[in-house]
Amino acid sequence: MALAAMLIDWTHCLSVPNRGLSLRWSRALCDTNDAIETTMNIKSEFRIAVMPGDGIGVEVTDACLAILDALTRRIAGVHLATEILPGGAAHYRDTGVALPDKTVENARNADAILFGAMGLPEVRLPDGTEVNPQINLRFELELFAGVRPVKAMARVRSPLADPRANNIDLVIIREQSEGFFADFQSGKIDDDQAATDRCVITRTGTVRVVDFAFRLAERRRQSGHQSLVTCVDKANVMTSMAFFRKIFDERSKRFSKIKAGHAYIDATALNLVRRPWDFDVIVTENLCGDILSDLAAGLIGGLGMAPSADIGDKHAMFQPCHGSAPDIAGSGQANPTGMYLSAAMMLDWLGERHGSDACLTAAQHLRAAIESGFRAGQIRPFELGGTDSTAQITTTLIDIIKTQPAVA
Ligand code: ATP
Repeated sequence: MALAAMLIDWTHCLSVPNRGLSLRWSRALCDTNDAIETTMNIKSEFRIAVMPGDGIGVEVTDACLAILDALTRRIAGVHLATEILPGGAAHYRDTGVALPDKTVENARNADAILFGAMGLPEVRLPDGTEVNPQINLRFELELFAGVRPVKAMARVRSPLADPRANNIDLVIIREQSEGFFADFQSGKIDDDQAATDRCVITRTGTVRVVDFAFRLAERRRQSGHQSLVTCVDKANVMTSMAFFRKIFDERSKRFSKIKAGHAYIDATALNLVRRPWDFDVIVTENLCGDILSDLAAGLIGGLGMAPSADIGDKHAMFQPCHGSAPDIAGSGQANPTGMYLSAAMMLDWLGERHGSDACLTAAQHLRAAIESGFRAGQIRPFELGGTDSTAQITTTLIDIIKTQPAVA
């Protein structure tokens, strides 16, 4: 068995006592590839391809770059060489190209990709769909696992009244290379009478994402999580989803310490609202994961609170769960927290992948600053009923980054 791609460990400090903070990535064994052994060079300078995109994507990306600048000044040994790359719906409107080849090439050559949000409702392709180049990137770079941690933030009220909602801590793993997105930009319309998008589930695509989910559950188990992976599907109705579940069951036998659960997508929508604390890791098809992750973000305050990472064997892209939010773009009201937490995930991933303790420390320092800002009531985004603009939140966080004690 070879060492391979990074998996994620969203855990409390107890899982890694010497790291000390609430969220971190961890390397895990994986038998699907050998990426780690070939990329395990210790280095301190990282090329980051930055794609701000559209709407509030640009605003939270600008803010995030200011945060990363402050962070790398504070933490020795991390140098981020950022390159801003064009792309998105506005770029498509202006040039006819959503994602220039050069952007894809530079993203491919970077150590990691930091992504804002792309898409504008009024900018449409001839088939009526929105311009969503991030989906093209997921396919191009084989970013098969969409990792969406759903973790309650200190002092941020969940819309759920039950006090257990203050400790929500689950992760949704969204398959991102096929499923209902398989016909992305190639769906068929016959004679203006019928339209078709296929749901494609392959053995290879399912094995890799299911294994990813189980390995994550194994890591989380070390910090007292439930040791449970729930396969979410519509296996009672769709052949493709029954196949997804069959492969899930086959693979689950390899992970004897982890329980394998099953749930239908409709029941999961219900139960994520009724009792989200019963979930640990969820693995699901592309469209199901897209929908559930927005629902789950609502449980922890809103889309602006939710980070995500798109992980493949060779590349990784980090972006908040939210879209370009044209309704608030330009108002200064965007909550940048999800973007900052995504940047922390990026630093974790770089740290683990390249053996850089400085990156891991920077990730911890950033998360500690965010948590401390919320806990002390210093960060009050509009999205949560506060009055702090994106710029004010950024200034506050930079102050905390500069002054908070170094993480042990
Ligand atoms: P996409 O499909 O492109 O992911 P979406 O349909 O999920 O996008 P968003 O653009 O994410 O839609 O916006 C959904 C709602 O959430 C909007 O009302 C928007 O204002 C709000 N929202 C999204 N992100 C943020 C944020 N960072 N801060 C505050 N509100 C946000």
